[in-house]
Formats: sequence, C-alpha cells, structure tokens
Amino acid sequence: MMRGRISFVFVLAASLLVSRSTLWAQDLGPQFKKIKEGIYVQSAREANSNAGIIVTQEGVVLVDSGHNPTDSRAVLEAVKKLTPLPVRFLIDTEVHADHTTGHYVFSPPAMIINHTGAGEAMRKGFVPERMPNLIRQFPEMREAAEGYRLVPPQIEYRDKLTIHLGERTIEVLYMKNVHSEADSAVWLPQERVLFAASVAIQNGINILRPFVTIPDMLNAMRMMKALNPEIVIPGHGSPGTTKIFDDAERYYALLLERVGAMARAGKTLDQIKAELKMPEYSSWSAQDRMPTNIEAAYRAVQGN
Ligand SMILES: [Zn+2]
Repeated sequence: MMRGRISFVFVLAASLLVSRSTLWAQDLGPQFKKIKEGIYVQSAREANSNAGIIVTQEGVVLVDSGHNPTDSRAVLEAVKKLTPLPVRFLIDTEVHADHTTGHYVFSPPAMIINHTGAGEAMRKGFVPERMPNLIRQFPEMREAAEGYRLVPPQIEYRDKLTIHLGERTIEVLYMKNVHSEADSAVWLPQERVLFAASVAIQNGINILRPFVTIPDMLNAMRMMKALNPEIVIPGHGSPGTTKIFDDAERYYALLLERVGAMARAGKTLDQIKAELKMPEYSSWSAQDRMPTNIEAAYRAVQGN
C-alpha cells in the first residue's frame, strides 16, 4: 500500500515536470508545436505553410512569416510571449505569397533573407487583388492585414549563408530549381533541426513549375538527407523525419521509370498524360497536379 502511494506521488511529480516543459507550446495556442527548446512551428491547418520561430539569446529568427495575415499576427503574439527580444532576421524558404505575405508584420525591424532572385520573383509574382480578395472572403483578415505591403528580402545571398546569433548557428542553403524562383533550406546543425522548404510535401503531389527539374529536386533531397537531421519541417504539413525525402524519392523514381518506358515506346507527351497511371500514389493529395509532374518527368527522360 505504502509502496503504491510512493510510486503514485513519484509518477505525479514526474508528470508535472514533463507537462511543465511542454506547457510553453500549449500556452502559445493549439496552432503551435514545440520542436526543441526555443524552436517552435506555427500552422493553423495541415495544408497551410509552416512558420518557424527560433529564439536565441540575442533575438529571434523566423522561418517564413505565416500562411495568412492572421497567422503572421499569431506568430508575432507568440514571439512576445517567448522573449522581450526583437525579431532580427526572417528567412524565406521560397518566394510564394503563402510564405511571404506576412513580412510587413515583422519588417522593420527584421531583415528578410532569401537567395538571389527572390526579390525580383516576388515583385513579378505580386498579385495586387490577392489581399482585397482574401479580406472579402475572410472578414477576420481585415484587421490582420492592417499596414500590408509587399516586403521583398533586404538581403539576398548566393549558395550559402551562415548566421551566428547568440548561442545558435543557422545555415541557409540554396536549392536550385526545386519549387520557386528562390528556395532556401534552413539548417540548425547543433540542434539537428531542418526547415526543408517545399521540395517534398507529406503524402501529396507537388506542383512542378516549368523551371523545376526532377534531377535538381533529387539532388536537393540527397543534400538535405546528408545533413542527417533529426527533425524535418517541410514547407507545409506536420514536422517529421527524412522519411518525407525517402517517400518522395521513391515516387519520382517510379514516375521517371514509367514515363521513360512510354517515351521509349514512342508515345507523345499528350499520350503519356492520358495513359499514365500511378495507382500506388492514388491516396496522395492534389492529384490535379499530376500533369505538371508528368511534364517534368518527360523533360528529365528527354535529357532536358
Ligand atoms: Zn510555394
């Protein structure tokens, strides 16, 4: 009886200790996940983009600025709860609006960082009607969108950039032709946490734009796997492991094999699009993007 009570007290104390360490992320709200001490991810829905918060002794580094203005405001509120220090840098994993619209919430004072070409792509891709449309669709966006303007990166790097801030080292690694006009992976070598941009998405078909190449995507995934990360945070969807890269590699290998066989049999791109089936991946989301995948595979098997 006595023994039972002691172990009960012990378990209670231990569970209090455990819940204390996870309390922070809960305090930040259900949209937030704690990745490691001082590292958090915000996303309101599984399909939405992830915004990363990295707290250091000398200020905060963000990775992307939230899917919508309401997400950006939630990230700002979370940062204020975590630290009195300012957001020093905001690293973009890509140029698209669902990762970059919220920059006006943080910059100034934050300096935005992405690879060379990001600013030009953001200006070219800017859709002025997007924000008014968003507000019309979701009235709660109106207040969050206060002060909205396009904020392209103030800092553009080439190939690789290393940030030393407080106790942390953050490497920003360029990935060529994998998703948008400028894609950056964000790697914390001490913590072994990797923000992997949108090269691979969890159990989903990616949209492959005309400049994206499957060999470049496979190279980027090999590069990221070689870093040996413990936690992989994709551009969209739940944090996981390098399994996301393994799954994507297997998918593209099968796609290249099938498209290659059909091309060698003399079929045209349109015939391949009409006939190719990937039943192994019928459960993956966004099947409507399959034609862009077949086009990229066709370019790859033709050697361009
Ligand atoms: Zn994107």
